[in-house]
Amino acid sequence: MLVESSYKSVGIVVKGLVQGVGFRPFVYREAKAHAMMGFVINTGDGVVIEAEGLECETFIKALRENLPKHARIDSMDIVEHEVYGYTDFEIRESTLGVGSVAIPLDAALCSACQAEMDDPRNRRYAYPFINCTDCGPRYTILQIPPYDRVRTSMKHFTMCSQCEAEYTDPTSRRYHAEPISCLDCGPKLTFLDNKGLGIAGDPIALAVEMLKAGKIIALKGLGGFHLMCDATSDTAVSELRHRKHRKAKPLAVMFGSLEQLQEYAMIDEEEKVHITGAIKPIVIVRSKSGTNISTHVAPLIDRLGVVLPYTPLHRLLFETIDFPLIATSANISDEPIIVKAEEIAHRLGNVVDGILNHNRTIVNALDDSVIQIAQGRVVMLRMGRGFAPHTISLRDSITKPILAVGAHQKSAIALGVKKNIVLSGHIGDLGSIEADGYFEKTIETFKRFYDCEPTLLITDLHPHYSSTRYAQEQKKEHYGVQHHYAHILACMAEYSLDEKVLGFAFDGTGYGEDGSLWGGEVMIADTHGFERIGFLKPFALLGGDKAIKEPRRIALSLLFERYTLEEVLVLKSPTTEAFLEYEIRQLYHIWTKKLNAPLSSSMGRLFDAVASLGGFIQTLDYEGQGGMIMESFVDDEITEPFDFTVTNREIDVSLMVEQIVALSTQNDTKRLIASRFIATIEAMMHCFVALHPKLPIVIGGGVFQNQTLMSRLYRRFGEGRFYAQQQTPINDGGIALGQLYYAYHNTKEKNER
Ligand code: ZN
Ligand code: ZN
Ligand code: FE
Repeated sequence: MLVESSYKSVGIVVKGLVQGVGFRPFVYREAKAHAMMGFVINTGDGVVIEAEGLECETFIKALRENLPKHARIDSMDIVEHEVYGYTDFEIRESTLGVGSVAIPLDAALCSACQAEMDDPRNRRYAYPFINCTDCGPRYTILQIPPYDRVRTSMKHFTMCSQCEAEYTDPTSRRYHAEPISCLDCGPKLTFLDNKGLGIAGDPIALAVEMLKAGKIIALKGLGGFHLMCDATSDTAVSELRHRKHRKAKPLAVMFGSLEQLQEYAMIDEEEKVHITGAIKPIVIVRSKSGTNISTHVAPLIDRLGVVLPYTPLHRLLFETIDFPLIATSANISDEPIIVKAEEIAHRLGNVVDGILNHNRTIVNALDDSVIQIAQGRVVMLRMGRGFAPHTISLRDSITKPILAVGAHQKSAIALGVKKNIVLSGHIGDLGSIEADGYFEKTIETFKRFYDCEPTLLITDLHPHYSSTRYAQEQKKEHYGVQHHYAHILACMAEYSLDEKVLGFAFDGTGYGEDGSLWGGEVMIADTHGFERIGFLKPFALLGGDKAIKEPRRIALSLLFERYTLEEVLVLKSPTTEAFLEYEIRQLYHIWTKKLNAPLSSSMGRLFDAVASLGGFIQTLDYEGQGGMIMESFVDDEITEPFDFTVTNREIDVSLMVEQIVALSTQNDTKRLIASRFIATIEAMMHCFVALHPKLPIVIGGGVFQNQTLMSRLYRRFGEGRFYAQQQTPINDGGIALGQLYYAYHNTKEKNER
């Protein structure tokens, strides 16, 4: 026990995840416990504590050690000053102004609130908007920081006296729970038809009735609407696909309980931690075969995106529903998630049969986060609810705010301000009016949140991305960072690396420095530049964009690289069998004349080609489908790679192509082809790793969304020098972070050190 003798006064500024997590009540309790006088306040620069008393040191120690569940301290600046003479300790109203505080993140319903809503004697029994300082909406209802009720969409609801008593009682677990409310004073549910007109009756009962009848409803969640229907009903799920024009892309499934989920999916301990944790993202896991889940949920693949109810409203639905529900974002293809009932009625009126709505406004749209676990590590596939916006603290201050606009698909933006990089959540694929509009809205939100006007904009090199065009129109200083280099930089940013690294960017196609399409890149990089030390030998995408939809076209071009036209015409291969003879001749013409046959070194496209050569699939319904189907055939025991050569930086896979062609004519070789292909990628990486034994290994790009590949890489390189993003998206959702990290390091001379 520390003995402190003198009465001291300190000013403390705490930065990190300290708003919306019950941090001020926590400070209050600790202050009371240590007989400290003074106050605590939320400011734009963090939580400020003024405290004086005899136990200063133990008080500060307690702040560090007894943190509330969701809080995180990034820094704590302490100055000792003259005693002021406070006579009590209090929580003061927040001051305006924004800056260095991490935005509070949305959290799933906590167990204490769950117990209350399940208890018929509790005054919040069956209340669909129950929350506390540990759980509930945060960022999605926040208009501007700091996070206080008056600056959220809850400001429209006046607290009743009972709620207010809890809100102002430091011993209550709802002390300063900003969205606090109850049946008397809080938001209300309504049920609407697909034209947006109210239907009389109990909204939840009406929704349940429709779901049980195999209908499709839209339900207002935390960050937007979900489309929901019975996941065990073939008619319901295929009707949803038909109405949404979504052929085969997997749909996420919500289960009523962990027990129910485990009937449908195989999950390990690490997956369970995330599935049941405080955030409850969608987790991609292995599905069990032979269940009654509709085969239309995730056709041809052995994975399933699973999620547990994370709002009280979801939980109420499952009171009377005993089957799993499809829970997919309500949007049109890959546009941003819809947040208003009117928009559901207007744009998805022909998709849904009814709308379960409420009147708590979603201020900031946010999709569900999607993660996957590889060897116990998180791979972030979509950063949204509960994880976004993500703040990375920098060592040095950025003097002039920087905006990075990211790529085009899986768009996200990043803002560099003061000592932070803030990466936005998933926006969607750009290129539609809605998506581009939401992209610009997100930029405006970030500028407002951080009270700044960026003077430097960072883009991709691709001239036709909506994001690049947006930056050009701003008439401000701007420049581009190469796409795959940005993937490597994103990972470096997450781990604060600034030394030389060996980077592997394995991706779909991105704009290369030479104007060709890159995507299978090995580089030695630091924060100032990169040297391309290896790449897949470029192959032609026959028919340009058409080749991206039809892997057989890419596979055919690889066959042309290896064989003569005459040989290809008589070749036995699933690829050639997918064409008529005249088509092969036509494509050969395109190939020799290089007409609409852009060259690419993309690893993602090589996955597609192998999916065709191995007879897995010839035309795709969604990006990445080839790799996902192959993944279901991978056998971890098969580790022998195919042959390939590396000459003058070029990785040539023609020997592999020949070996796959030979295998594909035999029976039952899919397992072998899929497994040996994954082993081949590992072997390619190992070639370069062996040449640079001292450099940290950094990876990035959409190919690493492959769970099997990631697990093997963690096993092979995982100890000490291997870096892969865990907190930020490994795919294009992380590009803006990489772009910003580059700008931070290359404008640094002008920044304060
Ligand atoms: Zn709670
Ligand atoms: Zn109330
Ligand atoms: Fe990419």
